[in-house]
Amino acid sequence: MPGEDTFLALDIGGTNVKSGLITRAGEILAFDSFPTSEGKGPEALAALIAAKLKALWNGASPSGRPRALAIGAPGWIRRREGIVVMAPNIPGWKDVPITRLMSQALDIPAVLENDANLYALGEWLSGAGRGCANEITLTLGTGVGGGLILEGRLWNGSFTSAAEIGHIPLGGVSRVCGCGRTGCLETVASAIGMAAIAREWIAAGRETLYEGDPRLIDTLAMLDLAARGDPMSLSVFKGAGEAIGFVLSGVFNLLSLELAVIGGGGSGAFDFMAPSVLEVMSRHLVTASMDQIRVAKGALGGNAPLVGAAALLTEAGY
Ligand SMILES: [Zn+2]
Repeated sequence: MPGEDTFLALDIGGTNVKSGLITRAGEILAFDSFPTSEGKGPEALAALIAAKLKALWNGASPSGRPRALAIGAPGWIRRREGIVVMAPNIPGWKDVPITRLMSQALDIPAVLENDANLYALGEWLSGAGRGCANEITLTLGTGVGGGLILEGRLWNGSFTSAAEIGHIPLGGVSRVCGCGRTGCLETVASAIGMAAIAREWIAAGRETLYEGDPRLIDTLAMLDLAARGDPMSLSVFKGAGEAIGFVLSGVFNLLSLELAVIGGGGSGAFDFMAPSVLEVMSRHLVTASMDQIRVAKGALGGNAPLVGAAALLTEAGY
């Protein structure tokens, strides 16, 4: 039966909802994506997602039945109950029993996981972290998502979500984080945080090649500027790299990891940040020598969470 060893994967983001039919090895057999704004409100969006998943499954594998569905969601989730408690970037999403809605609509089991954790599982299964037992992933986007793999398994910890690396505090940083605290890593290293620093520096008259409206600068524009030698953009990326380096030094020293994978939209600046990350780690790492560890750019891009669904469902026994 062609469908026997396939899974459905869903990645609900603030901008797009991505879905895939995947094999146990993480190969994506069929893929679909649509703007999250197409579904008005949680019920309408859930119904739309279910219809898209059914179409994906029927189109690619008419004779078989996927074994289960893995759902990746941003924000605050209750994994065991399958509830998205709050997704700040998806209007109206509060206490949505997404697992029940999906398994009822599709008549297959469904499992919920944090999207950053699915990203980690994807890179571990068939991306930059393939074959690594102990690794952490960082996704530089609106915030900095984290996923931790220890001894080849996703680490969930005791409470709702482990590996909140974006909210590890940095000494000497007073920037206010989306979580309401100050000095979190993501205030300087997320794509949004880096662009915010650039805006402030432009307003303060710092030397830059940027000539557009300061309010519109983003990390994509900064990448282009950095490639042309722009001192402002290069400084922002260097600062982000140093902050990541300090945090990773602590995490690696605590857990004796061998790899950090950096992905998400902000990882376009990986080549500009990596030298600073490694320089700081070379001064603070005690659990390994620098030639034993790696800091790598994510290899799977935005589809990593869909790939990770295969590892999550295999681990869950499906
Ligand atoms: Zn925070």
